[in-house]
Amino acid sequence: MPHFACTLGEMSAPITDTTTTLAELKSRVLAFARERDWEQFHAPKNLSMALAAEAAELMEHFLWVTPEGSRTVAQDAAKRQKISEELADVVIYALEFANVTGLDIAAAIEQKMAANARKYPVEKSRGRADKYTEL
Ligand SMILES: [Mg+2]
Repeated sequence: MPHFACTLGEMSAPITDTTTTLAELKSRVLAFARERDWEQFHAPKNLSMALAAEAAELMEHFLWVTPEGSRTVAQDAAKRQKISEELADVVIYALEFANVTGLDIAAAIEQKMAANARKYPVEKSRGRADKYTEL
């Protein structure tokens, strides 16, 4: 496991998507769990369920509003912080799931995007929301 001189939260400048690697985030999430002796609870079953529960908490912010209304909600200053926290929860559990299963997120995304490109060729899917079986 890679070692970092400081934890992400202690860095002087705020971290961003453009300055932080997945490996750094995975390491930070793993360290957080290890410090608390929580790895014993982090079976793939539990992490996949926790991820789904957090996804539901994210969805709750958009429940009963129209698609256009959801764009407004996502930009609402008061709600944006809570939405950001739920997104973080989802990604944290995804990162920890990758940690405990040894899955490489970047490789998995690369493979899945290639498969998606085959299932949804631009000429058939552009501007359509249909499932690939309906194209
Ligand atoms: Mg949450």
